[in-house]
Amino acid sequence: MGYRSTWGRYVSVAERKQNAGRTVEKMKKKGQAANPVVINGREIARSFWGKAWCQNLEAYSDFANRLPRGRTYVRNGSVIDLQVSPGQVKALVMGSSLYTVKIEIQALATARWKTVLDHCSGQIDSLVELLQGKFSKGVMEVITSPERGLFPVPSHISMNCSCPDWATMCKHVAAVLYGVGARLDEQPELFFQLRKVDHLELLTAASAASLNVSGNQSKKIIQSGDLSGLFGIDLGDAAEGGAELGAKVKGKSETVAKTGVRGAKSRAKKAATKVATRVKKVAKSTLRVTKKKPVKRPKKG
Ligand SMILES: [Zn+2]
Repeated sequence: MGYRSTWGRYVSVAERKQNAGRTVEKMKKKGQAANPVVINGREIARSFWGKAWCQNLEAYSDFANRLPRGRTYVRNGSVIDLQVSPGQVKALVMGSSLYTVKIEIQALATARWKTVLDHCSGQIDSLVELLQGKFSKGVMEVITSPERGLFPVPSHISMNCSCPDWATMCKHVAAVLYGVGARLDEQPELFFQLRKVDHLELLTAASAASLNVSGNQSKKIIQSGDLSGLFGIDLGDAAEGGAELGAKVKGKSETVAKTGVRGAKSRAKKAATKVATRVKKVAKSTLRVTKKKPVKRPKKG
């Protein structure tokens, strides 16, 4: 970055904020949209996924000593840009100068994901409940278990920062790790992007289990993915007039997660029940699900 001469100089919070503001302005002028982490109040994360993300990191002694330095940083608005893509977090952090942080998270092992799907089968009613983290105790235990759950252990996380202080975990990286927790409050589905799994499969598993079908043929059909397609379409149809739900099924889950409206939730539940009944009929009568039309689903990975 060419600011090595400033290394070691104390930079006040006010100065850092000013520098952060200037950098964001410069980025805007260049047409780069910065996505800063904004923390309101003392709590870094308030939602289930945000809190669970932070608690998971704090649970490891490798991290516990170094993480606290990041709390002040992220609260002060030093993380001026944070972008999450599958398996990766890229961020810009304003310290004594501007640093680039890159964090890579290993994809969740397929076997582990399958085990989680098995355990959660039929237990998560709707996408809203999934994204809000409203689970039964059993599901909660599976999801948050360090041995068999969804959260990364330190060996799954590789970190890098452009600062001269970089050794294992500097305060910039720590701030970004907390920043991810804060971001999950707004966009919980990003958690699944980081682990490179499709969160909708947790719901598909639920609908498939509720069918209670017997026989290999029907099983085969269900696993082929047609059923999930049917689920997607019918869920949208059933929620006719419920624009939020339609949008939700197409993957625009943020809106619903943000609003978290009771109406949307109950509509989703009703729609899911309707779909389950309809799907049962289809499975019983023909055991053959004809593809209606291609359904847009978020790509896996
Ligand atoms: Zn650093």
